[in-house]
Amino acid sequence: MTQILSEVYLDYSDILIRPKMGVNLNSRRDVNLARTFKFKHGQVRTGLGIFNANMATVGNFDVARKLLGRGMFATIHKHYTVDEIGNFIKSASDENILLDNLFITIGLRNIDAEIQKLSDLAAKYGWVKSRNICIEAPNFYIPNALDILHRVRNKFPDAVIMVGNIASADICLKLLDWADIIKCGIGSGSACLTRKQTGCGTPMVSLILECADVAHSVGGHICADGGIVDAGDICKALCLNSDFVMIGGMFAGTDATAGNIIEKHYETNEIVDGKRVIQTKYFKRYYGMSSKYANNKFAGGMSDYKTSEGRELLIPYVGSLDKVLQDITGGIASCCTYIGATSVKHLSKCATIIRVHNQLNRVFEKYSV
Ligand code: 5GP
Repeated sequence: MTQILSEVYLDYSDILIRPKMGVNLNSRRDVNLARTFKFKHGQVRTGLGIFNANMATVGNFDVARKLLGRGMFATIHKHYTVDEIGNFIKSASDENILLDNLFITIGLRNIDAEIQKLSDLAAKYGWVKSRNICIEAPNFYIPNALDILHRVRNKFPDAVIMVGNIASADICLKLLDWADIIKCGIGSGSACLTRKQTGCGTPMVSLILECADVAHSVGGHICADGGIVDAGDICKALCLNSDFVMIGGMFAGTDATAGNIIEKHYETNEIVDGKRVIQTKYFKRYYGMSSKYANNKFAGGMSDYKTSEGRELLIPYVGSLDKVLQDITGGIASCCTYIGATSVKHLSKCATIIRVHNQLNRVFEKYSV
């Protein structure tokens, strides 16, 4: 019989972190944002657990360089060639950017070629010491995904391996026998149509709680992927015990993402010298990796047995990624001072989460300049 679970599954907008007395710090500057991660399969990495999404738009070299430069983590998408990645590794090393936290993404479709790509990267460009691999599939429940994870782990026993996506705790233990980090989140992404097209998905707050509980019990880590709207949502994910947070849409309108700035002209109601004033607005293209646009670009079109589960969007151009990253680190540090956490690592120990009906006061939002 089909069952309906009556417990309400919560999302970021359903909760807030309650400020409270603790070992509160006087200044955000005193908060330790970096954390040392000891992974299940033996590796250690240090940084602020924020990733860019491994999408063609935001999983590019420029975004990766910025995140790594600020002590965060980064992915690069699976469509880059060995030489492109190799040249990036060389140039970033020349700039003294630490590559320890860089994850190279591979897909499931042509796994022999993907494994060859990683081997070539090691042989040709010395990608050996800090090997981090992200194995990407919109649906990691398919049996093939597990077989491929086994193959990649056997080939690269000393790598940090992140896999996903999944949206339930039941699969976590099985994956963590071979993987280090599980990417959690299906249907939450800003360019995602999965919930609309398939009715499938799990709200992020409840998902993080249940997956973190299982993963941490065996020394695994999780990454909350999709649905981050504001820096506050990142703070919430970290307080809920997510080790990492992955971000796409929040970076999508910035200068560092792939693709040109798109200019659009609109007629306004204002008339000067008998002519309507034209207003110019600027955008960047952001598209889901399962969108028709991505399928046309990378897979020679949409297969006839599939439906598009991703949107193609024009996101208002917001300028500097540095500014967005600054807002994020500022927000996290401030969150720590509100709840008495001296470091990001302590957020989940200090947080009290409250369920709310009304998260934000939006009364003057439309007047923002
Ligand atoms: P965002 O930060 O924009 O809310 O979410 C980014 C995440 O959305 C990605 O890391 C990935 O997990 C997910 N995603 C990317 N492209 C697609 C897509 O085409 N369809 C779906 N369902 N999810 C996508």
